[in-house]
Amino acid sequence: MNYDLTQEQLMLKKMIREFADEVVAPGADERDKTKQFPVEVFKQMAELNLMGLPFSEHYGGAGADTTSFAIVTEELSRACGSTGITYSAHISLGGAPLSLFGTEEQKRTYLSKICSGESFGAFGLTEPNAGSDAGGTKTSAVLDDHGWLINGSKCFITNASYASFLALTAVTDKEKGARGITAFIVPTDSPGFTVLANYEKLGLHSSNTTELVLENVRVPEENVLGKQGEGFKQFLITLDGGRIGIGAMAVGIAQAAYDKALQYAKQRTAFGNSLSQFQAIQHKLADMAMQIELARNMVYKAAWLKDNGRRFTKEAAMAKLYASEVAMSATHQAIQIHGGYGYMREYQVERFFRDARLLEIGEGTSEILRNVIAREIGC
Ligand SMILES: Cc1cc2nc3c(=O)[nH]c(=O)nc-3n(C[C@H](O)[C@H](O)[C@H](O)COP(=O)(O)OP(=O)(O)OC[C@H]3O[C@@H](n4cnc5c(N)ncnc54)[C@H](O)[C@@H]3O)c2cc1C
Repeated sequence: MNYDLTQEQLMLKKMIREFADEVVAPGADERDKTKQFPVEVFKQMAELNLMGLPFSEHYGGAGADTTSFAIVTEELSRACGSTGITYSAHISLGGAPLSLFGTEEQKRTYLSKICSGESFGAFGLTEPNAGSDAGGTKTSAVLDDHGWLINGSKCFITNASYASFLALTAVTDKEKGARGITAFIVPTDSPGFTVLANYEKLGLHSSNTTELVLENVRVPEENVLGKQGEGFKQFLITLDGGRIGIGAMAVGIAQAAYDKALQYAKQRTAFGNSLSQFQAIQHKLADMAMQIELARNMVYKAAWLKDNGRRFTKEAAMAKLYASEVAMSATHQAIQIHGGYGYMREYQVERFFRDARLLEIGEGTSEILRNVIAREIGC
């Protein structure tokens, strides 16, 4: 058993940590206010060959492992949650299904654009009436002499305004239930395809969250991702991997909150002592440190299992569930340690708190993840 990161992982961690501190963090508060998407950050990440990090070098990726992806996602999220979710979705929701289920031709055409950063990656699963119950998808696709005709809508889709195509699910055979759902690769400039980015969100303000409207959108037969009828199975597998990304995001945000709280507790004085001298504050910080340590280990373990070809559904669900709850409690306590200042934007911890809230919802709510874990332990 070896808890050390490899040399490559350590070098990547050092590089992305510096990048996060020097390039991502300085504009994070401003972007939170202006809701500006971090395009410039991602241009630089493309130059550093990070946009296709875990994908095959054959398609322009860097051929790194899932732990490396978790490291990058954690560090970006420590600096800016919006940058973290954009990256996590780009890789694990946008690129991963193409890498896992795409044909050689699809990988050459589409995955390569994800790896180069020419297109952001996105994945359209959720619909207004089908979120946790994604089997209840209503978007439909009908095959005729001219290819597939897709009609329907998707909601809350990350990155779609910056994607030139995305994979989305549609019902191709109503009679077959979950086995009648198919994933399609759809260019976002297809006639009849509209991407709207009008949501007013609680946090993650500079990430791109969109609604998709598909009115008689045509795609050729070869745009089926993998096999017809396998869309449901594919998105369950995709979400297993995505949960490692959300877990890593949660660790990053929790770490940022803890770092700020520890620094503040040492500087701020009350009753003639620094806050860090009060046992009540020390215990909060000790709990934060312990929980972050455990959450990071859980994320790394799920990543390790995935990279070693083992089953990781349970561990990814546990890591995402636990880490997202740690992010909520760490950001909550970081505000508490800052007192009234914690409630003010200037001190950043309120941004971390708002950004963290999504992590208990996206890619499987905490309730659904407990269902997944219960199923996995044989309930
Ligand atoms: C910022 C943001 C980004 C997102 N990005 C994407 C994306 O890129 N692609 C994408 O496809 N989706 C995306 N989503 C959607 C997200 O995955 C869904 O919001 C999530 O899966 C929950 O679905 P829902 O909102 O329909 O809630 P619902 O499924 O309606 O759930 C509402 C509540 O009921 C509970 N509930 C539902 N079913 C059960 C059950 N069986 N047992 C117990 N409790 C239950 C839920 O846990 C929740 O508390 C994003 C969402 C947000 C907010």
